Amino acid sequence: MIRDVDFPSDRHGWAELLQGRPARPPLTGAHRVPWTVVGAGVTGLAAAHRLAELHPGAEILLLEARLLGQGATGRSSGFVVATSRFGGGFTADKIESYRRVNRINRAGLELLRTRTAGFASDCLWREDGFVHAAADRGAMREYDRFLRYLEALEIAHTPLDAAALRARLGTAHYRAGVHVHGGALVQPAALARGLADGLPGNVRLHEESPVLAIERGAPLTLRLREGEVRTDNLILAVNYEAPKLGLLRRRLAASTLSGSFTRALSDDELASLGSARDWGVLSLHGGGATLRLTADRRLCLRNTAEYNGGALLPEARLARRQAIHRAAFETRFPQLKHVPFEFAWSGVEGISRNATNFFGRQADTIYLAGGYNGSGLSRGTAFGTALAEYAGGGQSRLIEDCLNSAPAAWIPPRPFLDIGAALTVRARFRGVGRDR
Ligand SMILES: Cc1cc2nc3c(=O)[nH]c(=O)nc-3n(C[C@H](O)[C@H](O)[C@H](O)COP(=O)(O)OP(=O)(O)OC[C@H]3O[C@@H](n4cnc5c(N)ncnc54)[C@H](O)[C@@H]3O)c2cc1C
Repeated sequence: MIRDVDFPSDRHGWAELLQGRPARPPLTGAHRVPWTVVGAGVTGLAAAHRLAELHPGAEILLLEARLLGQGATGRSSGFVVATSRFGGGFTADKIESYRRVNRINRAGLELLRTRTAGFASDCLWREDGFVHAAADRGAMREYDRFLRYLEALEIAHTPLDAAALRARLGTAHYRAGVHVHGGALVQPAALARGLADGLPGNVRLHEESPVLAIERGAPLTLRLREGEVRTDNLILAVNYEAPKLGLLRRRLAASTLSGSFTRALSDDELASLGSARDWGVLSLHGGGATLRLTADRRLCLRNTAEYNGGALLPEARLARRQAIHRAAFETRFPQLKHVPFEFAWSGVEGISRNATNFFGRQADTIYLAGGYNGSGLSRGTAFGTALAEYAGGGQSRLIEDCLNSAPAAWIPPRPFLDIGAALTVRARFRGVGRDR
């Protein structure tokens, strides 16, 4: 049985930019239900939503260990991608695999577009794609490969040279970029809250309700701090924390990322940037900085990733990482050197050695989806939806696509696990140069 301290949180996330809200009460007492979903990030929220649609007469429990919006979903950078970029360049014989992943992404994006329709302005939903940019020689090589990939897959895009990027974003830092037209930007914590508020009436969400143990049998028994749930079916949407419940111990690892926000920019500061409003830039180097100008006028930069045993960064370490964010910010926006950061945040993402995802039945009536290697808002939504259908015996192209995820590579046990995970994360930064 895991301990409560195994689900730590902090007050550094996008949720801190939102107004306070009353949390749903923790689960207490004994319950008997046909369906339980554990984890209320995009995967669990999508799974619970779809289960409720498929089984309108059934009560569906959704159990979240932390406050809503404090998991990876609410701490992400808010890029809802339609088109994935695959490391290692473009290889013609992988076209079918690229298409499969992009079909999943687009399914998730479409679901999110529909589900956010009622609160699109609250979660700052803006669907105008993003820029993928290169500042260093290594990323420039990736730029050429990425263009070939976009052309081969007939994905709508507009190449941008350094001058066009400067005019658009207000930074002379990048040598080249490409605007990929599909994809949306969101305030991720507002997204999580809005999706939870929009759940059908037969879903009951409990926050601060970590599942501490699963006892096998029919029904399954879930042990919580002050309660117990007996459930026929269980959907686990717990991201990198599945190993805490005894699953995927040798397949799933975690990477801790961090970034910072400026305060809201003044009119003059905003005018010193380019013509575009509310934009996002992804680096063409896998370890490069993710950059956003948010609809509420903040610049946001995320550029560190490290192995930290699946934990958020403690205050002192986060402060040291903020110096790295600051250096990258001032290099990109020297005209805004006087603008302070308002705060820094960290978040943890589930990764696998071969960058695959997890989908399907684990054992008995336990189903699991997760581990999206830093790109899970659209994909997690699609995986959660498909998993709810699959667990009820459904068949569809989306389910097939999710099931066709490659098997995850094996991760050795501790202490090799820690060394291997640290090296895997560090490899992301090799050759990052000016893209950091
Ligand atoms: C800093 C950062 C930036 C990112 N940026 C992007 C981005 O821009 N675009 C993108 O697509 N992806 C991004 N990602 C990745 C993305 O956030 C994740 O892939 C996605 O949110 C995963 O969703 P999920 O629902 O599977 O997991 P999560 O959002 O992590 O949700 C899992 C939930 O399960 C809960 N939980 C765990 N164990 C238990 C338990 N035993 N009992 C009850 N509850 C439990 C957790 O508290 C958590 O809330 C980023 C990730 C990070 C960390």
